[in-house]
Amino acid sequence: MAVREIRVGNVIFGGAGVVLIAGPCSVENEEMTMLTAETVVKNGAGMLRGGSWKPRTSPYSFQGLGVEALKILRKASNEYSIPVVTEVMSIRQIEIASEYVDMLQVGARNMHNFSLLSEIGRSRMPVLLKRGFMATVEEWLLAAEYILKEGNESVVLCERGIRTFETWTRATLDISAVPLARNSLGLPVIVDPCHAAGRRDLILPLSLAAIGAGADGIMIEVHPDPDKALSDGGQSLSLEEFVLFAETIGAAPQSPCRLNEKNRR
Ligand code: PEP
Ligand code: MN
Repeated sequence: MAVREIRVGNVIFGGAGVVLIAGPCSVENEEMTMLTAETVVKNGAGMLRGGSWKPRTSPYSFQGLGVEALKILRKASNEYSIPVVTEVMSIRQIEIASEYVDMLQVGARNMHNFSLLSEIGRSRMPVLLKRGFMATVEEWLLAAEYILKEGNESVVLCERGIRTFETWTRATLDISAVPLARNSLGLPVIVDPCHAAGRRDLILPLSLAAIGAGADGIMIEVHPDPDKALSDGGQSLSLEEFVLFAETIGAAPQSPCRLNEKNRR
């Protein structure tokens, strides 16, 4: 099914190619963010990701650098001419984040936060709406409609795995959700294999599965030293692993934003 094309900076979701989004789970400091941005851009990423406010299970875990992270993301974005996405967890963060980033992410834990969705709908910022890990496809699509209803049509959906009885992975990637969601609302759908698997060895096979199922993009966590990451190191690729990964899935170095057409169905 043809989906709506959504432009974010120089990137188009829902066009002929598959958008590769990559970057650290959390923006930890300027150095690691710039280094990661440089590597992912040079190897075909079309968009940079990075968490500024982190929805951590424990309040004692690293919570993100907040506005300082936004400034670092903007700097990386300007330096490497790449749009950037960060997660907002509350209505209060929308305005400030919108000053620095190109796309707002609604995380899995906030997919049901209807007042946040409506407010983002009124903001007109492009949105990456992740599926809640306890949400059905229908609930996820209705969450998207909260944003659309306010007049914001720039919504990209992200399948990131749901909770099942399986314990060998952090969540279970629901591949069926990709064509189902794509065909229902006509919005682009991307896949985040990192949060689905919770382990880096599954990132490549799940990404290939996502491309095979027609995903419009893939979002990958990358860290210069995953073992020392302040969040999600176990599911992050090192810079070297990312280079190999991008090459394997057919990301074209120096021509950010699209994977080679040959990798489309
Ligand atoms: C993230 O992308 O860093 C994140 C927290 O993802 P999710 O909301 O899918 O858990
Ligand atoms: Mn993460």
